Amino acid sequence: MKKILAVLLAVAMVATLAVSSVMTASAGNEPQIVVSEATATKGATTDITISLKNNPGVASIKVKVNFPSDLTLDKVTFNKALNTTDSEGTPTSQTSKPKVMTSPATLNWVSNSQNVEGDIVYATLQFTVSAEATEGDKEISLTADPEDLFAYVSGSYDEQDLVEGNVPFELVAGKITVVACLHEHTTQVAAVASTCKTAGHGAYTKCDDCGAIIEGSDAALDLDPTNHEGGTEVQNAKAASCSEEGYTGDTVCKGCGATIKAGEPIKTTDHTPSDWKSDSASHWKECTVCTQVIGESESHNFEEKVLEEATTEKEGKKAKVCKVCGYVDEESTVTIPKLDSYDAEQVAGDAEKEEAVYDAEAGKAVGYKVQVTKDKLAAVKVNGQVVDAANYEVSEDDQGNTVVTFKEDYLKTLDNGNYTVTLSVDKDGDGAEDGVAQTVFTVKNKAANNNAGTGTQEGTGTSSKTGDMDIALLIFALIAMMGASVFAGVAYRKKTNR
Ligand SMILES: [Zn+2]
Ligand SMILES: [Zn+2]
Ligand SMILES: [Zn+2]
Ligand SMILES: [Zn+2]
Repeated sequence: MKKILAVLLAVAMVATLAVSSVMTASAGNEPQIVVSEATATKGATTDITISLKNNPGVASIKVKVNFPSDLTLDKVTFNKALNTTDSEGTPTSQTSKPKVMTSPATLNWVSNSQNVEGDIVYATLQFTVSAEATEGDKEISLTADPEDLFAYVSGSYDEQDLVEGNVPFELVAGKITVVACLHEHTTQVAAVASTCKTAGHGAYTKCDDCGAIIEGSDAALDLDPTNHEGGTEVQNAKAASCSEEGYTGDTVCKGCGATIKAGEPIKTTDHTPSDWKSDSASHWKECTVCTQVIGESESHNFEEKVLEEATTEKEGKKAKVCKVCGYVDEESTVTIPKLDSYDAEQVAGDAEKEEAVYDAEAGKAVGYKVQVTKDKLAAVKVNGQVVDAANYEVSEDDQGNTVVTFKEDYLKTLDNGNYTVTLSVDKDGDGAEDGVAQTVFTVKNKAANNNAGTGTQEGTGTSSKTGDMDIALLIFALIAMMGASVFAGVAYRKKTNR
């Protein structure tokens, strides 16, 4: 009744407002009732709002909400800002929720007293997505009778002369986008470079819940033939021998088997020479590994050599022997006669002693007498080593016997111990030893650290068995037999003075 009255009273004013409303709409800020958008998974519950935009002031909104069957409207909540009151605080608005919650569901609000201004939420709708819903957009649209969208354009509530005017709201649909997963838990996967064997991939983000790649790509990249996987190893290596070259081996990728670096030959090694090999004419060496002759064979270089020294007891032997390889020409073997044995007779110093002693503390002469003429003396040896002639004096006694006397400077160089003295005789003057006289002397009381080192000491450390301390100087007199033929081959004769 009130609405009809208002229309009748202010027709002109309505026309005026309608014109201005159209004019403002053309500027791009036309009034809208907008349904929001949301994303939800199957079975999930989510809120959708219906909001006013570019609201010029409105007193009634009655809309039908249309939605597909895989959405269930659970709950409708009107904004409390829609609750108008009069000057005494008495409510002057009504809202009504849908009588049935199926689509289309009708929402209705009207204020009896005043317009509500501002871009406010009109109502909040709670939807549940069906567990069987298909993925994709579920449109939620609004429809309305334009007559149910109005504002008061003149008059007042108190005067009971309010005049309604339609507000040309544009109805903007929203939607719930049904997705399989909201991707709430994700993992960043770093890029992996391709190798020669394994394809890599770029960086990407993966949903832990559904496994979807949300950002980037896990697509396999091309193999990189230059990035060898798994390291390298050396193959086909071979050590060189004296007969065959070796090989350092090829460096090969363990992943793809490609040869990254070829090896190089290793030079043959030197042959391993054997001892001398020989036949009657020549000598040579062979390799002990490959048996090849090393170098060239050469003729023997012979010299005459004593193979076995003759002694007073037994004949010796000499033959032609190669200086290089030691080959013995057996056909050239010659026998060396036994050596003549001469007697050494103690003649000087403590002549009553059976054997010569040099006492380094006291110093007293002891000597021997043996008979050989001076010119037949070939060499003097101590412990088998020839003694330099500067270390002894050679004289002849009145009977023509040769006397050899060691100088004290030489004796002082000898350590305590027993020494064998050999006097070598060459009676036929051919340069070869053909007889010997041998005796022993003892050095005692020599200070241990006073060692000049002649290299001739026997060094046994045995002391004289005489134990006699008062012998001052040791002299060896070597006297060869005057009549060599007479005494030749005569057995050793020791003179005792007791
Ligand atoms: Zn997901
Ligand atoms: Zn490789
Ligand atoms: Zn060899
Ligand atoms: Zn030889």
